[in-house]
Amino acid sequence: MLVQVAEGIHLLSIQFPFGMRQVNSYVIEGKNGVTIVDTGSYAEQAIGIWKEALPEGTKVEKILLTHSHTDHIGLAKWLRETYHAPLVIARQGYEEMKKLRARRKAHEGDATSTYPFFTKHGGPSVSEKAMLEQLDADYFEPDELLEDQQEIQLGDQAFEAIWTPGHSPDHFCFLNKSNGVMLIGDHVLNEISPLIPIWTEQDGNPLAVYFESLEKIAKLPVSIGLPGHGSLIRNVPARIHELRAGHEQRMQQILAAIPDAGSTAGELAQAVYGFEKMSMRHSAEFLMTLTRILYLESVGKVQAREREGVISYHTAE
Ligand SMILES: [Zn+2]
Repeated sequence: MLVQVAEGIHLLSIQFPFGMRQVNSYVIEGKNGVTIVDTGSYAEQAIGIWKEALPEGTKVEKILLTHSHTDHIGLAKWLRETYHAPLVIARQGYEEMKKLRARRKAHEGDATSTYPFFTKHGGPSVSEKAMLEQLDADYFEPDELLEDQQEIQLGDQAFEAIWTPGHSPDHFCFLNKSNGVMLIGDHVLNEISPLIPIWTEQDGNPLAVYFESLEKIAKLPVSIGLPGHGSLIRNVPARIHELRAGHEQRMQQILAAIPDAGSTAGELAQAVYGFEKMSMRHSAEFLMTLTRILYLESVGKVQAREREGVISYHTAE
């Protein structure tokens, strides 16, 4: 069911029976047909919702993706084939997809080894093959690429594309400068703190990058944030403030939980979030803890020590 949430913009809540289970897609009115923003994961349930909201023959002008996570792009190819509309993603999104594809190809058939980056940090045990397949699952060749700060027409409205890496290296928000409406993707969410994951050493310090991207948005005249999940964000600067404070609090908990002998990121995730056994069920807590520890390391609060291929963290002297 399409629900109007801003001038000319309708929310379509897409459900699917796994992963995040829900994504907010947006349908923007335009004289050349509607523009779709984000798709939901590939699932029969989600396809049913699209077919009901946009019956066969609906004119679609373009399909825009905020970032290349599976719940946002899973139905991209299906939508393109069904409505004959071009797929648009930022250049960073295309590069991210190509990078994941290349990594999967390099490790094809490697079903026995566990994902080494996780093992090194005391994380959950998952096969490298399964992990890389999952990250690469929804690859597509885009029809159009966007650049940071580019103006893009969505329906009858002009938006500015704003690169906001952190939740993913390729994440973009889109601001209508005339009324302050922002398609904010998974950069800022109301019900949860967006996951700031890290998948390899090359990802650097994603939490520092995320904080910078939050600052970027906090300075803009945003009247309402239309997020990728959950409820609309009426006061974006206040929510940004809360998210920052939440990360600071968790980082204090991490520092307090580090024993003299040091701990792996996996052990610290267990201590801070209070769960018994590390498994893929707790991958989000593990990833979040690891990105916070890497941030703490970058500001000199913790030090890493490597022993037999496993990294433990110690309070900095
Ligand atoms: Zn996402």
